[in-house]
Amino acid sequence: MNIDKFNDSIKACRFCFMCRHLSGVGNVTFREADTPRIRAAMLYGVTLDKSKLANADFIETIYSSDLSAACRFHCVNSFDENGMVLAARRDIVEAGLAPADVLEIAKEENSTEAKPKISGSGDVLYYIDPDSAAVASEARAFDKIMKRAGIKYRIAKGGNTGKVLETLGFAADSAKKATEFAEAINKSGAKTLVTPNPAVYDSLINGFNSCGVKLSPKAVHASEFLAQLKIKFSKKAGKVYYLESDFLKNYNSNLKFPRELLCKLGAEVAEFGTNSEESYSCGEGAVAFDKLRPAIVEKMAKYVEARADNPSSDKIIVASPYTKMQLSKHSKLKVCTLTELAADCL
Ligand code: SF4
Repeated sequence: MNIDKFNDSIKACRFCFMCRHLSGVGNVTFREADTPRIRAAMLYGVTLDKSKLANADFIETIYSSDLSAACRFHCVNSFDENGMVLAARRDIVEAGLAPADVLEIAKEENSTEAKPKISGSGDVLYYIDPDSAAVASEARAFDKIMKRAGIKYRIAKGGNTGKVLETLGFAADSAKKATEFAEAINKSGAKTLVTPNPAVYDSLINGFNSCGVKLSPKAVHASEFLAQLKIKFSKKAGKVYYLESDFLKNYNSNLKFPRELLCKLGAEVAEFGTNSEESYSCGEGAVAFDKLRPAIVEKMAKYVEARADNPSSDKIIVASPYTKMQLSKHSKLKVCTLTELAADCL
């Protein structure tokens, strides 16, 4: 089984309470099952008795994890609580035990075209995935900055990198999407592929690598691209609260570019909430969490709102269009993405 690769982590986490406060789901459901320790204890049970893989409560809990990877990132021994949950999802799928709601999302993902539609000219290719397309102001902000910088760029729209399928445990289907997506991008001859979506960034950097898919252009998150642009931002961003992205921080060694960009924009970044380890992303790491567990996502957004100093006036900055969507939908918070902030500072 896939979880066998995580035996050391399973054995360590099942007796450890250290990171229970970093389970975004546990913080809003107050269920013991939604903590790293109990998820690991249940997985240990499966390693002893494989028939437990079919237990409906176990499956429901595994698919309720918000997968922020905050536990792994902040674990003093780097035990991989996140990896074991993803491996368990693959085991559930490979055993034909995926529940109906998961199968429904996977079916929808499998039916979408992997190859994006590409238009325009230039070495830079800006990829607007479906989550980013839902926040139309993100692409408008990028366009405003590129016009000011005098850079021509191409746009890739739609498509599917296989990230949702990978996260739900459908490894083979995900690899197929990744291969087709990469073929279309490689054929374009672009030198740099810019994504505003941290989930897509993680897919291009880590997901493609793990399934042996080669991407020719350099993949960068929008914050990296913008932080390195030689343009003047004449207005200062002032006081902001930056909510870290699960994918840029916890999955990609705390990528430095969001903070470099904030510094370039003259932002004074204030501490948010009660600690800097928690994820306030509303389930970004679980990718399609708003479809899979909408009621939990709503609670997570309200949890974030309750931690704001002044919910109706604080300037909240996020890296992820998904997080902006959820916070805007379920809270009063004023949220903008890093790209939108940069465009406002021109
Ligand atoms: S990830 Fe680390 S801190 Fe969290 S439960 Fe496992 S061993 Fe404990």
